[in-house]
Amino acid sequence: MANPLYDALFAPHEGKATPFLHLTEGRTITHAAFLDLVGQMANALAHLGVAAGDRVAVHVEKSAEALALYAACVKSGAVFLPLNTAYTPSELSYFVEDSGAALFLCDPGEAQAVEPIARATDCTLRTLGPDGEGSFMETVRAQSPLSDIVPRDPDDLAALLYTSGTTGRSKGAMLTQINLLSNAEALVTAWQFTDRDVLLHALPIFHTHGLFVATNTLLLSGGAMIFLPKFDIEAVLTALPVATTMMGVPTFYTRLLDDARFTAELASHMRLFISGSAPLLAETHVQFEQRTGHRILERYGMTETNMNTSNPYEGDRRAGTVGFALPGVEVKVCDPETGVTLPQGEIGVLEVRGPNVFKGYWNMPEKTREELREDGFFITGDLALIDADGYVQIVGRGKDLIISGGYNIYPKEIELFLDTLPSVRESAVIGAPHPDFGESVVAVLVSETGVTIDIDAVKAALRESLAGFKRPRVIEVVEALPRNTMGKVQKNQLRDRYADVFGG
Ligand code: ATP
Ligand code: MG
Repeated sequence: MANPLYDALFAPHEGKATPFLHLTEGRTITHAAFLDLVGQMANALAHLGVAAGDRVAVHVEKSAEALALYAACVKSGAVFLPLNTAYTPSELSYFVEDSGAALFLCDPGEAQAVEPIARATDCTLRTLGPDGEGSFMETVRAQSPLSDIVPRDPDDLAALLYTSGTTGRSKGAMLTQINLLSNAEALVTAWQFTDRDVLLHALPIFHTHGLFVATNTLLLSGGAMIFLPKFDIEAVLTALPVATTMMGVPTFYTRLLDDARFTAELASHMRLFISGSAPLLAETHVQFEQRTGHRILERYGMTETNMNTSNPYEGDRRAGTVGFALPGVEVKVCDPETGVTLPQGEIGVLEVRGPNVFKGYWNMPEKTREELREDGFFITGDLALIDADGYVQIVGRGKDLIISGGYNIYPKEIELFLDTLPSVRESAVIGAPHPDFGESVVAVLVSETGVTIDIDAVKAALRESLAGFKRPRVIEVVEALPRNTMGKVQKNQLRDRYADVFGG
């Protein structure tokens, strides 16, 4: 009996003395040492009564041990459930209760606050601290590194990953062994990963980007990672000359460009920079190429499907697009009302089908039926078009679409225009309730450093370029846009902030 995910990602590296994780302070963990720890952890999970199919909720800072927990869950057939480190205890209680987790692992400093949640949900609580009361690592150290690989079917759950909660309450996406494995295989092929790759990994590992896109791809290829706790500019600049690839969110790239020490020479050892999780500004794309000679490769995916599309490795990486469907994945753009496929160039809702598409939302059968068609297509909720050359362009989220006086307004069209103005660094456009039009347009701007935005000049530029119904009625300048840790603009927060701006 097999465990397809463990057999592909982890088993081939058992006993290998090659480096796997380069940690801060010069510490390196080999594949063999990592997998010995994984074996011990799998035995410790069994010791605590965790069985195949049980959910293991993990709310810990990024570390080699946290990553080993993921592998140990795969090995023992448990369902890995990582939680955003920013969540507070009251937010955590929803996830622990909703998932029915059997075991909750947290950092030592948090144990006291989390204890009532664990008690109320009858969930075992352990800390990932090295020792002390309730230390999981103490149990781990007492175990043998040899553990059984628990057999799993390709359709058995490997992870329960909650969505980012950008458009509403987070939903638990049920991801199977084959969902994760098929995507890792597609990405290794698409991005030409090999065991010579050294991935600069500065992403969190509670999200699909850092956990699956980055880690699974790298594990399948057999390379190594420079595993940074977070995006720290000093650490990243130090790591770049020995890395070959980096995966990041757009803010990583703007932060690199903001630093004059980031030069072509520093990036000369790199073969690939990849961006995703949020749209990459065309300006970033251009500036990055001017500075380094590298064209950032933008790709598109989501918690429910892993990665769907990618710009080509060989060939034209086009700014403002997310490229083509990955091998084995199908994408189409459909009319949101009728579900009928739209002609090339028209904007509609993007639908995705393939082995990467999740099994459904945990505890939400109705939502699953609404968004997962019987023929296997998943309705992503993202608005997109496919251009004449077949490149997919994400136009925005369906929920961000503004309908004003019966007209559809795509915020991204206005944002793209505003971003071209020299004084504007970035912008977010939302709809706010309006008594006459249903909704009307609000633009929130962030200025370039040290520059004052002249609102009248912005209005004049808008008058020149955009139809009247699209023009923002309210324009405000703010210090920064509200973003989550993955760099996604939190438009819900902006909508709340401007809910009464038109008195409607
Ligand atoms: P929720 O579903 O809870 O509202 P979320 O959709 O932000 O939150 P994720 O699954 O983390 O949760 O994010 C997936 C979304 O991120 C996609 O549906 C898409 O809107 C956006 N996204 C990802 N990559 C890109 C990209 N390259 N360009 C534009 N948008 C992207
Ligand atoms: Mg979503």
